[in-house]
Amino acid sequence: MLQVLRAGNRRYCAGKPEHPNQTLDRRSDQAEHQSPFALIHGCVDSRVTPELLFDQGIGDLFVTRTAGAVLDDTLVGSMEFAVSSPYSVPLLVILGHTACGAVTGTLKAMEKEAGNPQLPGEMEDFAAQIAPVARTAGVEGSGSEAVDTVVQANARAVVEQLLERSAIIRKAVEEQRTRVVPAVYDLETGEVSWLEG
Ligand SMILES: [Zn+2]
Repeated sequence: MLQVLRAGNRRYCAGKPEHPNQTLDRRSDQAEHQSPFALIHGCVDSRVTPELLFDQGIGDLFVTRTAGAVLDDTLVGSMEFAVSSPYSVPLLVILGHTACGAVTGTLKAMEKEAGNPQLPGEMEDFAAQIAPVARTAGVEGSGSEAVDTVVQANARAVVEQLLERSAIIRKAVEEQRTRVVPAVYDLETGEVSWLEG
């Protein structure tokens, strides 16, 4: 399944997408059932659209997105839904991206507020999840290098958090029914770097 995503991303990077599974026939065929082969959990960023960057179509991917690709309870439930019967999705990708605004905002707030970012409203929630990752990564400032280091560390951290939080997903991984893989999308080249696998 990873191979299908790799191949799709190569087509997208080369500017030669095939736009598979986007026909009227595919739409009507998928109206009665779906069997997506992966779930992509990424950032809300308008430039990081999973179906485009992996060159996939209707019924191919489950997609969840939050600012900074952080988790919350409803989201973990959505992933458990994808991993459970009848879908039993064999691959979950945690997809960060370069120059992530949620990470940049958190790092800037950490600089301003002595390491304890306070963002307005509920944005505080993603900042509270990204800040410890940034502290562990030991980055300084909020420049592009620091941001991209935290983006990578965060994708890996989200994989760990997911396995810790969800007994259903942990069991599926232990039984080798699914894999959870961190990755980072490059806004400039369009390339997805797989952090393992
Ligand atoms: Zn982002």
